[in-house]
Amino acid sequence: MGILDRFLRAAHFSGGVHPDDHKRPAADAPLRVMPPPARVYVPLVQHIGSPARAVVAVGDLVKMGQRIGEPQGAVSAAIHASTSGRVVAIGDIVAPHPSGLPVRGITIESDCRDEWCELEACDDPFALDPAEIGRRVAQAGVVGLGGAAFPSAVKLSGGLGARVELLIINASECEPFLSCDDRLMRDRAAEAVDGIAIMLHATGAREARIGIEDNKPEAIAAMRAAVAGQARIRVEVIPTRYPMGSEKHLILVLTGREVPAEGRPSDIGVVVHNVGTAVAVRNAVRFGRPLVSRIVTLNGACVREPGNVEVPIGTLAGEVLAFCGGMRGDHDGPARLLLGGPMTGMQVPTLEVPVIKGTGGILVLDAAEVGEGDGGPCIRCGDCMRACPVGLLPLEIAARVRAGEVDKAAGFGLADCIACGCCAYVCPSRIPLVQYFHHAKGELAARARGTQRNETIRTLTRAKADRIERDEREKAEALARRTAASLAAASEASAAVEKAAAGTNEESGACA
Ligand code: SF4
Ligand code: SF4
Repeated sequence: MGILDRFLRAAHFSGGVHPDDHKRPAADAPLRVMPPPARVYVPLVQHIGSPARAVVAVGDLVKMGQRIGEPQGAVSAAIHASTSGRVVAIGDIVAPHPSGLPVRGITIESDCRDEWCELEACDDPFALDPAEIGRRVAQAGVVGLGGAAFPSAVKLSGGLGARVELLIINASECEPFLSCDDRLMRDRAAEAVDGIAIMLHATGAREARIGIEDNKPEAIAAMRAAVAGQARIRVEVIPTRYPMGSEKHLILVLTGREVPAEGRPSDIGVVVHNVGTAVAVRNAVRFGRPLVSRIVTLNGACVREPGNVEVPIGTLAGEVLAFCGGMRGDHDGPARLLLGGPMTGMQVPTLEVPVIKGTGGILVLDAAEVGEGDGGPCIRCGDCMRACPVGLLPLEIAARVRAGEVDKAAGFGLADCIACGCCAYVCPSRIPLVQYFHHAKGELAARARGTQRNETIRTLTRAKADRIERDEREKAEALARRTAASLAAASEASAAVEKAAAGTNEESGACA
């Protein structure tokens, strides 16, 4: 497929926006590796699914890569020590979340030696059974590094039961300000391609396509050089348009095929993984190395040395900023702190929050980057509707949410919203549309949990009532049987007595 085709397909991808990308100069600065900080604060939930359970105690000495959190449930992921040292606390730490609420985590005081625990390496991953690859990836706690943090082993192993024909590698990195994938491809292209080849083997897919937006020429060149000689893997250049990184849009542009509404990519034989995840999979399978660090983009006008840094998981965002020269003195100070990109990232009240597996960026933005003014009233211009890549009516959904009518908002397709932020980006009244949608989705999820709980209680209550009724019925039946048996016995006894009496009388008569 030529680039023209892909442009035409992108034209069919309705909505979307073209925000200024703000990727340079951060993207062009050399990748740096941050040494372990004095302490790491490792949350026990860094993934979709239930929090992991701590399997170390305060005072324990741990090595880097040692498992400290055991997954709980099907879509939970293992957690590992990101430095060697001593566990000094297990309890609440500030969550990397807008609420600033605490989350359970493990604090490790580093010995600054970064001594690895014993790792299970493998010289030839292609000789491994696909299920064994899935096991190793799960052991290493690898999750999707594009932000979704879905456990990667589940997606890889899903291919064992499903018919996966095509592996798509999401290297589009469409969010403004972020360049961690771009930098990874420029500096570690061979590792990424090795990881993609391992993923191909694990999923059983016939081929892999790496989708990269055309605003990353250096990454495209590096990846093209790395895939030379790999007949089943190819690089596809795609138009720069947000949200090209959304799974469904990327699949549409690369294959011309649509994932059915409420369906999954696997329904059409496709599986999508992020390019950073491919490197993590390679490290897990070839070297047995758990996911204990990730590349993070430090960007925004307030950052003195914007760039990309490989950071141990659990490092405080403020320490990463300090490693990048701290805050610029010629600016008034940050107007907004974000973890992730400006479209889908999370605003946080402080940088005293840890970097987790899904943290692709730390943005310290000034007032000019944030934009002026508070939200005004909706002027019903329809811009949000035209920008929505899913074809929703954001103004109508937001109006229902504002009125507290989340059920009606759901009727307008709230569940299909991918929280891409295009609507809020174009809104001239600067209405925080996505925040409304997050709030409403949270309320609906809480209601669904409540309904499920009530349903469970109802089922248990009904089962208990049935059991009591059954017990009473069985008792009554048993009593009836016993009564009948004793009556029968009594009647038999009296018949025997009568018979005996009659016999005695006959005998007396014969004598007389
Ligand atoms: S873009 Fe903003 S102002 Fe315009 S219709 Fe949508 S919500 Fe209203
Ligand atoms: S955030 Fe939701 S409603 Fe807004 S543009 Fe994206 S998909 Fe549409």
